[in-house]
Amino acid sequence: MTSKNNWHPDTKLVHGGTSRSQFGETSEALYLTQGYVYDSAEAAEARFKGDDDGYVYSRYGNPTVSMFEERMCLLEGAEDARATASGMAAVSSAIGCQVQNGDHIVAARALFGSCRWVVETLMPTYGVECTLVDGKSMDEWKAAVRPNTKVFFLESPTNPTLELVDIKAVADLAHENNAKLVVDNVFATPLYQHPLKLGADIVVYSATKHIDGQGRCLGGIILSDEEWINENLHDFHRHTGPSLSPFNAWTLLKGLETLSVRVDRQTDTAEKIAGLLSNQSKITQIMYPGLDSHPQADIAKKQMRRGSTLLAFELSGGKQAAFDFINRLDIVSISNNLGDAKSLITHPATTTHKSLAEEERIPVGITDGLVRLSVGLEDADDLLQDIERALN
Ligand SMILES: *Cc1c(COP(=O)(O)O)cnc(C)c1O
Repeated sequence: MTSKNNWHPDTKLVHGGTSRSQFGETSEALYLTQGYVYDSAEAAEARFKGDDDGYVYSRYGNPTVSMFEERMCLLEGAEDARATASGMAAVSSAIGCQVQNGDHIVAARALFGSCRWVVETLMPTYGVECTLVDGKSMDEWKAAVRPNTKVFFLESPTNPTLELVDIKAVADLAHENNAKLVVDNVFATPLYQHPLKLGADIVVYSATKHIDGQGRCLGGIILSDEEWINENLHDFHRHTGPSLSPFNAWTLLKGLETLSVRVDRQTDTAEKIAGLLSNQSKITQIMYPGLDSHPQADIAKKQMRRGSTLLAFELSGGKQAAFDFINRLDIVSISNNLGDAKSLITHPATTTHKSLAEEERIPVGITDGLVRLSVGLEDADDLLQDIERALN
C-alpha cells in the first residue's frame, strides 16, 4: 500500500478519506442521519465517555462529513479539520473560538465583506478589538501589534481586487508575537497555494466556491493541527453548531473529485482573458496574479503555483462603462458568486462591497469602474469573443 500522504493531489481528490460501508459502494455513501443507535445502554455509555470513538450525533460528527474533512486534510496537509455549513461559519468559528474579552485581532483591510464585518463590527461587541491594516505593508502589520494581540487574519488573493499578502512574512510576525495566523484561501484554492506550508496556523475555505464548483450548496471548512483544533475549536464547534449537512458534504466530496480538472481549465481560460484585456485601451487596470504586470508579481511567484480562476479589471468611464459592459455580455452571467462552472461577473462597488463608504472603498481599489470576473468552464474562445464584443 502506498501512503495516502504521498499521493499526488489528483489522487487525493478522488480517493482521499473514502470510507466504504459493508456494501462496498463505489461512490461515497450519503449518511443522511441525525443520530446513531447503540446495541446496549452500556455501549451508549462507553461512547459518551469517549471509550470508543463512534458517532453520537451529527452536529458533532457524521460519516459523510468525516470523509469530506479527511479528503481536505490530505489535500491541505493538515492534521485535522472541522467542516462547517458555510464559508462564513468557518471564518466566524475559526476566529471566535480562539479569542476572549480583552484580546486583540489584526486583520488586512481588503477582506470579503462578511469577513470584514465579523472582525470589524461583531468582535468588538464581545470586547475583542480589531485593527485593520493595509495587508501589503509589513510596517502596518508590525505597528498594529499589541501585547494582547491573539489573532492575525488575512485573505490572499483578496476579494475582489486580487491583491496579495506575503503569507510567510505575516506568519513569522504573528509567531514572534505569540499570535496565530488565520488565512482565508478561497481565491487560490487548495491547489495553487498552501498557507500551512507558508507558516499559517489555520486555513479556512468557503467550500461553496471552487470546491463545490457547480453552484449547488454552501459549505466551509477549518483546517489546522490537532492541538489547536482540540484546544480551541472542538468544543466550540460541537456546542455552537455550525455543522455541515451530510447532504452538502456528499455534494462537496463529488465536487472535490473534479476540482483540479475544473480549476486548471478555468485558470487556463482566465490567463487567456487576462492576455486579451492587457491589450485593450478601455481597460485602465487589470489585476491578475498570473501576469507579470501584477503589482506584486514577485509575491505571486513566491507563494502561488498559478494565477487564479478570477480576475478584476477597471474600465475607463466609471460605473456607467462597467454597467454597459456587464449588460452587454451574453454568456457571462451577472452574479456575485464565484468559482462556478458558469462564468459570473459582478460590480463590487454596488453589490458585494456596497456597505463600504466611498472613502474606504477607493483606497482598497474598489473603484466605480471595477468589475470582478469569475471564469467558468465554457469554451475559452466563446468567452473571449463575448468579452471582446461587449467591450467594443
Ligand atoms: C464567499 C467567501 C466567503 C464566505 O463564504 P460563504 O460560503 O458564502 O459563507 C468567505 N471568504 C471569501 C474570500 C469568499 O469568497
